Amino acid sequence: MRQFQFKVEDGNGFRRELFKFKQWLGSNIVSNVLFQIYTEMLDREPFEAVCRIIEEEMPDSYYVGCSSNGCIMNGDFCPGTIVVVCTVFEYQSTSIKVLAKELTSETQFEVADYLKDVTDECRWVKAVSMMLTIRGMSMTGFCDRLSDIRPDIMVFGGGAFSVDINEDKAFVYSKEGGYMEHGVVFVLLGGEDFNVSATYVTGWKPLGRELEVTSSEGDILRLLNNKPAFDIYYHYLHIHNDESFFYNTLEFPFLYEHHGIDILRAPISGNPDGSLTMTADIDMNVKAKIAYGDPWTILNSIREKSLEIYDFAPEAICVYSCAARRTYWGNDEVGKETLQFQSIAPTSGFYTSGEFLRTGRFVNQHNVTLVIAAMREGPKRDLPAIEHQEEQLSGKISMINRLATFINATTEELVQSTDRLALMAITDGLTGLFNRTEIQRRIIDKMNTCDSSGIFLVMIDIDNFKKVNDTYGHDEGDNVIRALSRLILQIFHSESIDSGRWGGEEFMMLFKDTDYEYVYSIAEKLRTGFSEELFEKAGPQTVSIGITNALEGESADAVCSRVDKALYAAKTTGKNKIIKL
Ligand code: GH3
Ligand code: MG
Ligand code: MG
Repeated sequence: MRQFQFKVEDGNGFRRELFKFKQWLGSNIVSNVLFQIYTEMLDREPFEAVCRIIEEEMPDSYYVGCSSNGCIMNGDFCPGTIVVVCTVFEYQSTSIKVLAKELTSETQFEVADYLKDVTDECRWVKAVSMMLTIRGMSMTGFCDRLSDIRPDIMVFGGGAFSVDINEDKAFVYSKEGGYMEHGVVFVLLGGEDFNVSATYVTGWKPLGRELEVTSSEGDILRLLNNKPAFDIYYHYLHIHNDESFFYNTLEFPFLYEHHGIDILRAPISGNPDGSLTMTADIDMNVKAKIAYGDPWTILNSIREKSLEIYDFAPEAICVYSCAARRTYWGNDEVGKETLQFQSIAPTSGFYTSGEFLRTGRFVNQHNVTLVIAAMREGPKRDLPAIEHQEEQLSGKISMINRLATFINATTEELVQSTDRLALMAITDGLTGLFNRTEIQRRIIDKMNTCDSSGIFLVMIDIDNFKKVNDTYGHDEGDNVIRALSRLILQIFHSESIDSGRWGGEEFMMLFKDTDYEYVYSIAEKLRTGFSEELFEKAGPQTVSIGITNALEGESADAVCSRVDKALYAAKTTGKNKIIKL
């Protein structure tokens, strides 16, 4: 595989370059030629002029392209121009196929299924690279459906865009499908000697405590921990909802786990109702953390990733980098990220409106991320040693990085002690069961949320317990209480029934969605189980049990009082028995 990259200053210049390239081709063995054309401009005419030249000069080649937020050529940001990347495949075994389809909310599933059919048929396919127009469309369904294609196929790509991130315009182009404002172009690559490896890196790191997405719909993030999402940015970071909002929040996007990997979503704008419009869909109920990006950490993460890519010994590297990264770094510095790959192999790509990568089975839509696809034909060759990195990257650690480590370590300690305190607040010290406050809370909660006909309470009291204390001492009394609790935990834990210590030697159990026969069988198991235990000093002991079920519309107090009466009835009619009221 060889790669040639051209900057198109004007049509004639490009034709001359192509002419020289054709001369080179004439004396080399070539199986396929693929042109990828990226432009920062939305103008159709100059782009199509490039395609016409390719068509005239090299009619047997493939060409695809798209508008973008910026082109990447020879590993560097290449502003204000059209970039043509020409990949020459040298192995006869390497195959290419290009598919182009209209992509809208209506056609998305059909398109994904079509790709699946084609790749099922073409067993040689190892990778699908795609360019597509997102333009505000939710990509979740499309990505999920793409996950159904053959699991060994790598999928990667980027969303077409325009140089102005506020402009909702973009196009993709291909020989097969022509100019499309709502479309997707898939380039299928594969063959025996074709090798591909794709990965992603963000460099943004999670910070502080977890926040739960308690309300979201598509790309609208409404509530975090039941509070308006915008308040989080104001509360923790003092970011105002003004014209710098996007730039400021870009340093602190949300990071959450989806399909087992880290996904970033940045807020684009704050809305009057306190919700945030995000760069793409964010799922309900996920636990997100604010992430931070600082230049040192980002470059260092990319450097680590580039070492992995170096091991693959690629011959060409394709990068799909989020437009947000260009905004974050600014035009003069953004090239620092991708230049790290150029020292490994020719690197090209574009700034996107969304990055796509299959990880495991799932195709994910990323944001603020760098997706990197490394390709090679044939076995690994030895690459020259990787360029020595700047001193600044290898030795020192940035202060922001240290402060973030400090925040994360203290947050973790606080979370652990809060969790411990929360557990202590609901647990009975002697038995490890829920305490009375907690079991009462659970009874009220179940009565409010579940069908009352399936709710049962079971109350248990050790018979003649005072005598154990008086005769064998308080410690033996504690042993008896603990033994009963262990039995309760054994029986009830496996059934996931709530159980708590009501006081002294009294216990309360809460059942839901069940019937009397079942509750009775469990109570009986407990009664007989306990009577079979032999205490060292106190010998065998027994319990009395009351059972009742909740009636529609009654209060938690009323059910508790009835179960207490049932227990009392068991006590006054001989003990060591079960009574239902
Ligand atoms: P009945 O069969 O009617 O239930 O009689 P009882 O003796 O079990 O009931 P009573 O309520 O008269 O006595 C309960 C005793 O439990 C009184 C109290 O000192 C004792 N007790 C309460 N909490 C604890 C505890 O944590 N440890 C021990 N060892 N004893 C406790
Ligand atoms: Mg008792
Ligand atoms: Mg009692």
